[in-house]
Amino acid sequence: MNLIFIAPPAAGKGTYSTLLKEHYGFNHISAGDIIREQVALKTEIGNLVKDIIAKGEMINDDIMANLIETKLKTLDLSIPFMLDGYPRKMNQVHDYERILKNLNLEVDKVLFIDIDKETGLNRILGRVSCPICKKNYNTLSGYMAPKEGNLCDDCKVELVSRTDDTKESYETRYDIYVSETKPVIEYYRNKGKLIQIDGTKDPDTTFKEIEKILGVN
Ligand SMILES: [Zn+2]
Repeated sequence: MNLIFIAPPAAGKGTYSTLLKEHYGFNHISAGDIIREQVALKTEIGNLVKDIIAKGEMINDDIMANLIETKLKTLDLSIPFMLDGYPRKMNQVHDYERILKNLNLEVDKVLFIDIDKETGLNRILGRVSCPICKKNYNTLSGYMAPKEGNLCDDCKVELVSRTDDTKESYETRYDIYVSETKPVIEYYRNKGKLIQIDGTKDPDTTFKEIEKILGVN
């Protein structure tokens, strides 16, 4: 099985991709990681991408497709995998489907974790973590709040904020994400491949829904 993972910022993508990996052995392929990996490896395409980023330019669709294809060819594709951060717009959907076709694959499901902007904003602004054990908490959401005040449950030290986001920057990122990926979501909905999950619930409930709908549990 292969999935495309679509989730607005703060929808919990990191949490669910980790759980799918731990419980069901999914390979998690992130477009951002692929870019960083190729730059670090100093491959031909990695050096090209590094120059593009240094100039502050966007990585175009052809180069993104090349990066994705290069990565997929290094993997054992009999293991289920989920791709996140790609494809984000319709041109990339067409590129990705062509890449998969060459590998005798097609997109099986598109997992869309839906959250509204306000829920996402609360999650972002409440993010804190323990400076010692690195455990994450959220002071603005009941199920991830520390038990006592602003202290780590285990280490009993003061938690520190770990968001780089302001309200404005989060809202901008959210709006861009939604407008960019909307056509992709609608495309896969029309193909009957979209799985839409309410991401505003607590992570345990949401993950159970994901398991059920993917038929993996
Ligand atoms: Zn701690």
